[in-house]
Amino acid sequence: MNFFESCNIACDGERCPKCGRKKLRAVTDEDFCLVARVDRNFGDCLKDRLENEKIDCVLMPYGTGVRSKFALPLESYLLYVRYQNSEYVRQIIQETKADIF
Ligand SMILES: [Zn+2]
Repeated sequence: MNFFESCNIACDGERCPKCGRKKLRAVTDEDFCLVARVDRNFGDCLKDRLENEKIDCVLMPYGTGVRSKFALPLESYLLYVRYQNSEYVRQIIQETKADIF
């Protein structure tokens, strides 16, 4: 499995699936990888759950530029977890409406 640092994406191929660039390296268990886009409420619940299980996670606010400009609450988060936890976290969110990457 490869990893592209600028996008925090782990992938099988030689190019980052998000931006198409090719400077990938081998992923390590510690790398934070993008796993899903989740809505705000679910993201907050998931963060609590993962913290209880001692799993590191990072939620990055994700929304449209218009909403950001008017400082309204953002609709969703991009969820990043360490590569070693990514399969487990994907399973947790599989049955939700999250967009899994
Ligand atoms: Zn990329």
